[in-house]
Amino acid sequence: MNAAETPFWGPDFAELSSTDPEIADVVLGELDRLRGGLQLIASENFTSPAVLAALGSTLSNKYAEGYPGRRYYGGCQQVDRAEELGRERARELFGSPGVDVHVNLQPHSGASANLATYAALLQPGDTVLAMSLPHGGHLTHGSKVSFSGTWFRPVSYTVRRDTELIDYDEVRDLAHTHRPKMIIAGATAYPRLIDFARFREIADDVGAWLVVDAAHFIGLVAGKAIPSPVPYADVLTFTTHKVLRGPRGGMIVCKPELAQRIDKAVFPFLQGGPLMHAVAAKAVALKECLQPSYQTYAQRVIANAQALADGLASEGMRPVSGGTDTHLALVDLRELDVTGRQAEERCDAARITLNKNAIPYDPQPPMTASGIRVGTPAVTTQGMTEGDMKEVATLIGRAVRDGDGSAAHDVASAVGALVARHPAYAR
Ligand SMILES: *Cc1c(COP(=O)(O)O)cnc(C)c1O
Repeated sequence: MNAAETPFWGPDFAELSSTDPEIADVVLGELDRLRGGLQLIASENFTSPAVLAALGSTLSNKYAEGYPGRRYYGGCQQVDRAEELGRERARELFGSPGVDVHVNLQPHSGASANLATYAALLQPGDTVLAMSLPHGGHLTHGSKVSFSGTWFRPVSYTVRRDTELIDYDEVRDLAHTHRPKMIIAGATAYPRLIDFARFREIADDVGAWLVVDAAHFIGLVAGKAIPSPVPYADVLTFTTHKVLRGPRGGMIVCKPELAQRIDKAVFPFLQGGPLMHAVAAKAVALKECLQPSYQTYAQRVIANAQALADGLASEGMRPVSGGTDTHLALVDLRELDVTGRQAEERCDAARITLNKNAIPYDPQPPMTASGIRVGTPAVTTQGMTEGDMKEVATLIGRAVRDGDGSAAHDVASAVGALVARHPAYAR
């Protein structure tokens, strides 16, 4: 193979600039934005140049409906290798001696992985017990604006008012009352560890499937920094672009006996041809996750999130549940008399990107919200440490309290100096 000697093997920004200067300007402008500010959105990360190279490759051209060795199109020899390598790496990463798993790398997104799982395990109208959206659940866990709340019958569990932790007694009681066919554990804005053994016990009590939507924290599992749900879940769905640091996309890991149901639900029930450039990029990311350096990374992500939560607490912003065990913190701003939306806008003006977020039992509507959510996957990838997180917390504090915008310029300069010490996508 001498493709590397030929000019057309992959992404070529000079070519993009001459063909389409407007889109080239968007791509480079986005790189400037990423490099020039603090990226604290908990679901984002900086994927590696190796992952980006696979994403920008000619694998994007290939139709490969089906699975390795059983495709509906010819010419799949190379893409089959990519998908097989990805599956092997995922089995190594998420299986363990005595616990074999089946892997599907084709879901286009986390939401697609969830839809495929509903399709594999349920009939329309079946009852699903999952975390309430305002308490940190995901739209695909029963919201009325999603398939999950219109084609299925959702029942929601919440967090306790006093501890802001999942109310496992309520989960058990709701399961006994409503007899769900499927229980989902996992959330988008829950900073604490989830007791998967407890969920398994409850699911077994009522004969429900246990699905763990690990989109947010699967990278921490891959990095062995938090306990794995694999021994407990029937099906694990997740995204590959959050802490895991792969390309944008979804994945499913399930018990071997559910392999056929899951595979058929992804294709042909739900999707057509897989995005083979994304499948190959997932394989690259999974290889990166198998390196010892990734385990160090996962531990640092958590240490940074804890330092950030502590720092924000000293700025008068209360971490929901008192802190975090993961990569994210949810912060209650009511003591500062600032809404989540105001905080998001003020931080944005100071080149700090984060999102407003409902807190449990939030008195504000979701578009206003009383809190913000911050996460450390991206800043940790660019090499920031706990000392930097103290500074980040101070800068967020200044920006959030900056009602008249007079501090935005100074905070933005301090942000610029901080990110210059830890450049993202440095050459
Ligand atoms: C991010 C997320 C999803 C959806 O992923 P998309 O790729 O945006 O569709 C699903 N579930 C949870 C818990 C998530 O955090």
